[in-house]
Amino acid sequence: MEPVVLVIAAAVLVIVAGLLAIYVLNRRSATVLEGFPSKYPEDKDKACLQNFNFLSEVVQLQTNKTVDHYDVTIVGAGPGGATCAYYLSKAGWNVLLLEKKKFPRDKYCGDAVCKTGIEILMDMGIYDSLIKQNKGLVADCGGMVSPSGLSFIGRIKEGLGGIPAAMAIKRTHLDEAIAMSAKRVGADLQEEASVSEAVFCKEAGLWTVSLEDSDRKFKSRVLVCADGAPSRLATQLGIVTRPPDSTCSRAFVEGGTHCFDADGVVFYNKELLPGYCALFRHPNDELNFCCYIIPGNPRVKSEELADWHKFILEKDPSIVKALGDNYKIERMKAASLRLGGEKVSYGNHVLLVGDAAGMIDPLTGEGIHHAMEGGKIAAEFLDEALTLGNYDVEVMKVYHHRWMEKFGSDFKWSMLFCQMLYRFPILIDAATAAVQRKGDSFLLKWADIMTGRVPKLNMLRPEFSVVITYELIILLLTRLLGRPVTSTKKVN
Ligand SMILES: Cc1cc2nc3c(=O)[nH]c(=O)nc-3n(C[C@H](O)[C@H](O)[C@H](O)COP(=O)(O)OP(=O)(O)OC[C@H]3O[C@@H](n4cnc5c(N)ncnc54)[C@H](O)[C@@H]3O)c2cc1C
Repeated sequence: MEPVVLVIAAAVLVIVAGLLAIYVLNRRSATVLEGFPSKYPEDKDKACLQNFNFLSEVVQLQTNKTVDHYDVTIVGAGPGGATCAYYLSKAGWNVLLLEKKKFPRDKYCGDAVCKTGIEILMDMGIYDSLIKQNKGLVADCGGMVSPSGLSFIGRIKEGLGGIPAAMAIKRTHLDEAIAMSAKRVGADLQEEASVSEAVFCKEAGLWTVSLEDSDRKFKSRVLVCADGAPSRLATQLGIVTRPPDSTCSRAFVEGGTHCFDADGVVFYNKELLPGYCALFRHPNDELNFCCYIIPGNPRVKSEELADWHKFILEKDPSIVKALGDNYKIERMKAASLRLGGEKVSYGNHVLLVGDAAGMIDPLTGEGIHHAMEGGKIAAEFLDEALTLGNYDVEVMKVYHHRWMEKFGSDFKWSMLFCQMLYRFPILIDAATAAVQRKGDSFLLKWADIMTGRVPKLNMLRPEFSVVITYELIILLLTRLLGRPVTSTKKVN
């Protein structure tokens, strides 16, 4: 070989190795706290305070740490905030959890909690009791209906890896259970405490949090905004700069009045794509009907949610069949969705968790499990940051990298897939046909991808792409030949 070729090859190798090293080092420095100086070294002594009234006293702790403030104030005790409070309190930090409502309180939702959320409930030790008390129903019989009416309903109870794929639980039960768990491990949960503002004092390095209709004020080193999709506090602080992206409806169908005989089914109506609707059964046979508006279809606007909700109930043949002629349904309720992840979920001494940070997957509109996972990631990060004693914006950015790396960076693929589903609904027909052919284990793997349990790019793996492409070709040929494609496959 010519020496000049060898030199060029060596140079290329060195450049590639250099770029790789920079990439690896950048990724490492993006997710570790090593190297940041400690600014509040006194913070690292954990306090084991329980039910302590910070308003009236300053305490000398066993650890010799004098405290007149909480380590962390969390605003909002939904799944995101309460999970964060649980893990931080369990790690021994002084956590204040402020919730504007009184538990048990409703939250408009589809009530479907998927694997990652169930796993965290198990880790908290509350899953079994929720099931035993008949508050949650593990979905055993579940599946999907495609835009052209292909359907598959399979057995999904024993999800891959032994954790159920999904359960339905009313938010009145779920959110109270998580918040009370956080309280049990030491979080100072204060209900009917609606936060009006939070002001940061740079000199003291402390937040002062004020409540509406009250003179009470609380101080803490770190603030976590977990106040849901409107993200009012983070907007007030200038971290979030846009309104929520979309909206979703919810209405309960009275048990015993419908004909739905599965536990959880996703219905893709062609007109509504990339949005969809879903039915989930509660333990008392009540159904939760939701209609998700997902951005991407210029003909489907958030403002027209009520019309779409009515249209689907009256005109979607699969929903009409599932509900029957005599079903009793409550008045439609609605709430907003903040999708796809906020670009910035941190600031000086402050983090955003759950819907407040846009932790809802754009492909599904689901965010309970991401809020819980995000809350856990925030708690683990803050455990390190409090031990280090530095909450500068550059340090807090590490948290953003961590949840992005775990699930948030996948949202861009979800957005792309949304566009593809809206433009080519036949892709969901093909996926449903593939599930029909391959059965329950394929459906469970599909569910893992859809719910962000594994990265969306797994769809490109041959076990999915080859089968779906095959079904796509069959469907295209069938349509070209003018044959009907509707078929149903259901377990007994
Ligand atoms: C109709 C609908 C259906 C949905 N269906 C599903 C589904 O089936 N599965 C799924 O996984 N996801 C679903 N989602 C998304 C899911 O509801 C959210 O992702 C989830 O609730 C996020 O949890 P969170 O803790 O971040 O916020 P939230 O659950 O909204 O909790 C925020 C908490 O903050 C409190 N709060 C707000 N402001 C203040 C304040 N100023 N002071 C004190 N407290 C305050 C609120 O009272 C609330 O308790 C649905 C959403 C909608 C709208």
